[in-house]
Amino acid sequence: MLDQNIGDNELTAYDRDHFFHPSTHMGMHARGESPNRIIAGGKGATIVDSTGKESLDAFAGLYCVNVGYGRTEIADAIAEQAHKLAYYHSYAGNGSEASIRLSKMIIDRAPANMSRVYFGLSGSDANETNIKLIWYYNNVLGRPEKKKIISRWRGYHGSGIMTGSLTGLELFHNAFDLPRAPILHTEAPYYYRRADLSMSEEQFSQHCADKLEEMILAEGPDTVAAFIGEPVLGTGGIVPPPAGYWQKIQAVLKKYDVLLVADEVVTGFGRLGSMFGSDHYGIEADLITIAKGLTSAYLPLSGTIVSDKVWQVLVQGSDSLGVIGHGWTYSAHPLCAAAGIANLELIDKLDLVKNAGETGTYLRAALNDALAGNPIVGEIRGEGLLAAVEFVADRDDRVFFDPALKVGPQIAAALFERGVIGRGMPQGDILGFAPPFCLTQEEADRVAAATKSAVEAVAAKL
Ligand code: PMP
Repeated sequence: MLDQNIGDNELTAYDRDHFFHPSTHMGMHARGESPNRIIAGGKGATIVDSTGKESLDAFAGLYCVNVGYGRTEIADAIAEQAHKLAYYHSYAGNGSEASIRLSKMIIDRAPANMSRVYFGLSGSDANETNIKLIWYYNNVLGRPEKKKIISRWRGYHGSGIMTGSLTGLELFHNAFDLPRAPILHTEAPYYYRRADLSMSEEQFSQHCADKLEEMILAEGPDTVAAFIGEPVLGTGGIVPPPAGYWQKIQAVLKKYDVLLVADEVVTGFGRLGSMFGSDHYGIEADLITIAKGLTSAYLPLSGTIVSDKVWQVLVQGSDSLGVIGHGWTYSAHPLCAAAGIANLELIDKLDLVKNAGETGTYLRAALNDALAGNPIVGEIRGEGLLAAVEFVADRDDRVFFDPALKVGPQIAAALFERGVIGRGMPQGDILGFAPPFCLTQEEADRVAAATKSAVEAVAAKL
């Protein structure tokens, strides 16, 4: 709750003067030219700001508050753990009961060939761990040249130096001297934006696999260590893979002995209506990145799930290299682990994975009904409880809007005025939805109705 002695105007001034916000226009915020909202509370899929305005959060924060806001079970579990043991580190074989129990719960839910969990605090640091483990793995195997990692344009894997390099969005590279070697980017599996409109989905998947193979051959298979991808492209536009994509990509990776990292920071723990996106699409990953849905963001916690195949090599390395020189102070933090346990128990108890699948199908049908025929709606797509609407200047000829018109951000703003939060995705005119798994059908109808009204209002001004 807000400190009642501090008025909003004073807080607003503190905010503009002292708070350096991530992913925010710095100048506009500091000068008071863009909104600064103070979020005060939340319950279910609804949040309330300090002015008392309620919004239906159809993006679950940053697609992370999967069980919804205000879950006392998780708050209580964190408090109980804090009273018992707030912190002890996990170096040198130490651990807390909570972190050990959570490891077991994760492996029980993970795809079949998974063995161990290395905990971090963010999706970015978990992908940083992945990169280091991939390099360590190839060093142990006596392949010091095999270090390059191939990511996809429009992939999102974090915003550190190496993980920001993996990310394939210009905004995250510009003016930061990124991407860094040895990170490469291949074609995004974005069927709607394919260059050759005559291609079928299967043909486009084959084209993506061919491009990947070309890159591996051009670089030299002995230099390519791994490929990383989100089961469904997330921040790059919420784009499910075209038919056959993962099967064709995996065939190429197997051929050249290239490891596969499934970045399941968004899709892990139920968002697609399956526990993992890897199970959903038949992806047999060597490493899996998890974060957001692991605790539903009640506390920060991430992880790298290591397959048995990789684990065996790491263990072999330790016998000659000794203690692994990679650790975070807060790895497997007991409070975060307690939040993770309570969160996963809640997901099971309320059957929320099933609800995510069913409500997702319902939401996309409602969006289709509401927006069908609108001339600026180019595509409505999604999977599970992930949905996106992509806007175009000409639907028949698939002509995109001039980015300077800011059609996507305008629609997201109009939607917010109508009491619903969607996300104007960072590249392209795309409105994204990723609501909490507890979303009801009545709430999904509200999302669709508000979107229809917002799109019509912005289209009328264009
Ligand atoms: N991977 C994916 C797929 C993500 O969506 C994100 C965050 N949106 C990250 C990694 C990075 O996570 P974090 O912001 O917690 O570092």
